[in-house]
Amino acid sequence: MIIMQPGATREEIDTVIETVHENSMTAYANVNQEGAIIGVVGENRSLPMDVLEALPCVKDVLAVTEPYELASRRFHPQDSVFPFCGFTIGGKEIPIIAGPCSVESREQIIASAQAVKAAGANALRGGVYKPRQSPYSFQGLGEIGLEYMAEARALTGLPVVAEVMSEAQLPLMLKYVDMLQIGARNMQNYSLLRSVGETRIPVLLKRGLSATVEDLLMAAEYILSGGNDRVILCERGIRTFETATRNTTDINAIPVLKARTHLPVILDPSHATGHAAYVPAVARAAVAAGADGLIVEVHPDPAHAVSDGRQSLTPDDFARMLRQVKAVAEAVDRRLVPPKSSLPLKLNGGAHG
Ligand code: PEP
Ligand code: MN
Repeated sequence: MIIMQPGATREEIDTVIETVHENSMTAYANVNQEGAIIGVVGENRSLPMDVLEALPCVKDVLAVTEPYELASRRFHPQDSVFPFCGFTIGGKEIPIIAGPCSVESREQIIASAQAVKAAGANALRGGVYKPRQSPYSFQGLGEIGLEYMAEARALTGLPVVAEVMSEAQLPLMLKYVDMLQIGARNMQNYSLLRSVGETRIPVLLKRGLSATVEDLLMAAEYILSGGNDRVILCERGIRTFETATRNTTDINAIPVLKARTHLPVILDPSHATGHAAYVPAVARAAVAAGADGLIVEVHPDPAHAVSDGRQSLTPDDFARMLRQVKAVAEAVDRRLVPPKSSLPLKLNGGAHG
């Protein structure tokens, strides 16, 4: 990691980057008001650190001890904040993503979109390719589900988030969604991570069922190293010996991740607990602990949901939960992203690739 002197010029930064490239390494520059930091990655261990260090425009050359670099706070000391369909992610405002586990029908996703929007959500979630434990369970509607989501988006103005399970699905997904979700089971699908790293669409990366915080950051590094810097990390509970809940929420992961990385960190209280009754408490805890957002399963009729009904909130319970979460956000000097006016805004769907 090369720390440039505070007043380093663009020309000087480019000269350093060139030197890095001449040595068969790749350079990523993080330039901001406080100065520039150049992250250097690659396998050539003979980079002339002393030569670089001797340049007057270079303040310091550090060997990175973490196995991830672009994801680290050392490379990017300020929080990553990026615009997303009319609001920002990673800043003071907390966005809420909500919707059913699966898109089940046109009526169901439209009703869900209208209900979560009325309660104050900022984006709509819904799976059209579902990673089910049994190959005989509902696997998702596929493309027609994406069309229904696009319709729900057009009606409500809410941007849409859906899980991509394989590289083969990627071109189709990019035509429809505003944010891709990489599910817990695919967190270490490195070829999928590389493929989404080549796009410029925001990626919600869920923590694997048995992944450590470092495993999650290494997975994010795959996406970042492809040049896609819009990665959102998501804690969704991990496997432990506890059976009272579907997973165990690792609340610790929020402050730990916030210390180690500049990337936004959100929490999914639905998969983390597996029971609608516990979702509001864990959602409040997440925001109190510093989460930058929530992704929550909400269904107009949870009892008849085709997947994850037990952990899905009704629209009324979701609205009640958001009122509590809003108060918690304000107590920790944050606020919820204000709900959109009813006019659909210009959206990004289909503009990625
Ligand atoms: C989901 O969001 O519906 C889902 C399958 O989540 P996870 O990958 O966290 O299990
Ligand atoms: Mn689900």
